[in-house]
Amino acid sequence: MAVKITYATMSADNEELNSAYESALVEVQEKLGELHGVIVNGEHRVERPTYEERSPIDSDIVVGLYAQGTTQDVDDAVAAARDFTDEWEDWGWERRRDLMQTAADIMEDRTFEIAALMTYEVGKNRLEALGDVAETVEFFRYYSDQITKHDGFVTPLGSLGENETNVSVLRPWGVWAVISPFNFPMALAAGPSIGALLTGNTVVLKPSNTGALMSLEFYRVMADAGLPPAALHVLTGRGSEIGDYLAHHDGIDGITFTGSYEVGMHLYRTATEKRPKPVAAEMGGKNPVIVTASADLDQATEGVMRGAFGLSGQKCSATSRVYVEDDVYDEFVDRLVAKTEKLKVGDPKDKETFLGPVIDRAAVSRFEKAVREVEESGGEVLAGGKVISDGDLGRGNFVTPTVVTAPDQSWVWKEELFVPLVAVGKVSDLDEALEKANDTEFGLTAGLFSTDENEIERWFDGIEAGVTYVNRAAGATTGAWPDIQSFGGWKGSGTSGAGGGGPWYLRQFLREQSRTKIL
Ligand code: NAD
Repeated sequence: MAVKITYATMSADNEELNSAYESALVEVQEKLGELHGVIVNGEHRVERPTYEERSPIDSDIVVGLYAQGTTQDVDDAVAAARDFTDEWEDWGWERRRDLMQTAADIMEDRTFEIAALMTYEVGKNRLEALGDVAETVEFFRYYSDQITKHDGFVTPLGSLGENETNVSVLRPWGVWAVISPFNFPMALAAGPSIGALLTGNTVVLKPSNTGALMSLEFYRVMADAGLPPAALHVLTGRGSEIGDYLAHHDGIDGITFTGSYEVGMHLYRTATEKRPKPVAAEMGGKNPVIVTASADLDQATEGVMRGAFGLSGQKCSATSRVYVEDDVYDEFVDRLVAKTEKLKVGDPKDKETFLGPVIDRAAVSRFEKAVREVEESGGEVLAGGKVISDGDLGRGNFVTPTVVTAPDQSWVWKEELFVPLVAVGKVSDLDEALEKANDTEFGLTAGLFSTDENEIERWFDGIEAGVTYVNRAAGATTGAWPDIQSFGGWKGSGTSGAGGGGPWYLRQFLREQSRTKIL
């Protein structure tokens, strides 16, 4: 692939990149509507009840038919993964790393094809879809670099005698369950799977039903790179059935769940009832931005607009609350509304589209409910607030980007909505803003716009969030990139304390064994 993709190159008007993506949109059409089995030990099991996935862009487009995995499939996948753990550990980290690097190259070669499929599957525009694939390629490479840098996590320790050697060896837990969400259907299925596999765990992956195709594409890349079939299994099907069954399976030694707070907390509470095991639950956000009187308002409105409406507000890192100091509130709101009204909502396959659809009808209903709450609670819809139900877009799940005010006690300020709706409110100073920003069960990402060094340091020290950005016009709270921002939440947003794409991420897939030898 000639074009090196990062968010920076994508935002440029890159003709080569655009035409490669557009050709891929045509080429992948023949792959839509196919029947896919669950994958257990390399076997594609299709003789199952199926469910149909339709595109959020247009309900006439069938993305695929997927087998509904059974508990027997889970049992078989876990058993095969268990049988293979010793052999996989014996492969050694250098050989596993080499395989991951091969997989990175293969995925990079397929970037446009995968991104085009992702657009059909979850409605991402080209920039977001290409970014999701490019980020996954970075995960392969960054984690490979990390394991190399740490020499496979083997660390010599001190010694108390001439004949004594002591070593700390980090070893895999065994079989790892990965349960992934719809919104980064490649990066968040593949990222944890790569981390677990590279460190010597075998993996059973349960993707979101809306996003399953991407996990199957990930599997294809891994298989083509030479991954043994027993190392990775992909089980499509309902989360409440096989996802729950998998997470509570006796043969599972560790879990990475990424998704909603409700499901994440349920698994965090219950998955360790029989024995201890790591449960990384990466959950939702209600990400605040503070704009002080010293801020550059052009930068601030750009950052909030991108943070709130990128991927139609369906990023766990989406900007959803903005606290603006009195003095600049009116001007901030005027500029934000003007920018919001210019955004193009439409088919995400079109180059000009900024906002594609939301994922399903339930998201549209959530949007409508939030707009109703604003109106009934005495707030105001300053921009947007509409569901698009006519024309071609009427066959998809399209809503307009929305800016609202709402009284402090409204649930619009509290609940993660996962739709393109941002609330703005007035504060008298940074202290009040920090108190409000932290008054949430979540702690994922946060942003500040200020040109005052003292304010910036106070904010970094006081804000309760795992991913923090100051003056970021490219996305006030969004757009983390491997090796640039580690991505993980505090409080009700995450349990692992180690961000994806960061220097401490691989550690969670390993347990320490100290080895004392006297010889
Ligand atoms: P979701 O919780 O509905 O589903 C996530 C996954 O869990 C899916 O694969 C689903 O099938 C499965 N699942 C559902 N019920 C289950 C159960 N009882 N047991 C086991 N698995 C079950 O989330 P979603 O709608 O796919 O994703 C959106 C959510 O994910 C948002 O809350 C968002 O903030 C969060 N998210 C968090 C991060 C992060 O890094 N913190 C990243 C992306 C998304």
